[in-house]
Amino acid sequence: MRIHHINCGSMREITADGCDSRHAVCHCLLLETDRDGLILVESGLGTADVTTPERTLSEEFIGRAQPVCDLDETALHQVRKLGFDPADVRHIVLTHLDLDHAGGLPDFPDARVHLMEAEHRAALSAPGAHPEDRVRYRPAHWAHRPDWVPYSPRLGESWFGFDAVRPLDGVDAEVFLVPLGGHTAGHSAVAVRDADADRWLLHCGDAYYFHGEIDPDNPRVHPEMNILAQVAEVDRPLRIANHARLRELVRQHGAEVEVFSAHDPWEFARYGEM
Ligand SMILES: [Zn+2]
Repeated sequence: MRIHHINCGSMREITADGCDSRHAVCHCLLLETDRDGLILVESGLGTADVTTPERTLSEEFIGRAQPVCDLDETALHQVRKLGFDPADVRHIVLTHLDLDHAGGLPDFPDARVHLMEAEHRAALSAPGAHPEDRVRYRPAHWAHRPDWVPYSPRLGESWFGFDAVRPLDGVDAEVFLVPLGGHTAGHSAVAVRDADADRWLLHCGDAYYFHGEIDPDNPRVHPEMNILAQVAEVDRPLRIANHARLRELVRQHGAEVEVFSAHDPWEFARYGEM
């Protein structure tokens, strides 16, 4: 399987101690598989979001995140630029349905969309109890009625001590959900087996925002990103507990598992495809 790391949505510029200043990213993966065609992990901002942001994104999000809105960064355009037909994207695996993760869905209307059932329910019934619902979940992103494949948590399947939801329906490649709650109702990480490199990738979505949060030796938050994380969270104790679990994963299995999140530009820069 060939793995491409693509940024499908630059946002405001941020800086951190010891790091250069960079635009926050929407870190997505495009997987070239042997039997499942192309699989997109996360979809970033879509073509409608970057051409008419005022129609599909919320005002609050535009203010907070300051999306750059570059059409060339959308998954659709990057899939084409890599020489593929967007119709070959047969599966999209999502950590959650926040607007900056689900925005690309309408650009791949025939793909099957895999995610946790609790997230699907929360987003499609929004606005619900949480005041952030209207800001984060945007019905324009699923107005085309995607082919949803929602999953309930499964007992007994474990991956490095985390619950795993595997296999994904109709997906032969080792790509599956690892529920990591706290940010949204049904937030999940996505595990991908990179057999060629004999390692795993764990895309943590918004389970954390800044690499310092999962640094086992020097855990620290990013002041600005932490404010955004707290505004958006639905369960702080669960979110914080998951940081501790991820630090343990990195400490014990850092050689076997590469852990990264959706928006940290310094993690994205490791993969050299800015
Ligand atoms: Zn996000």
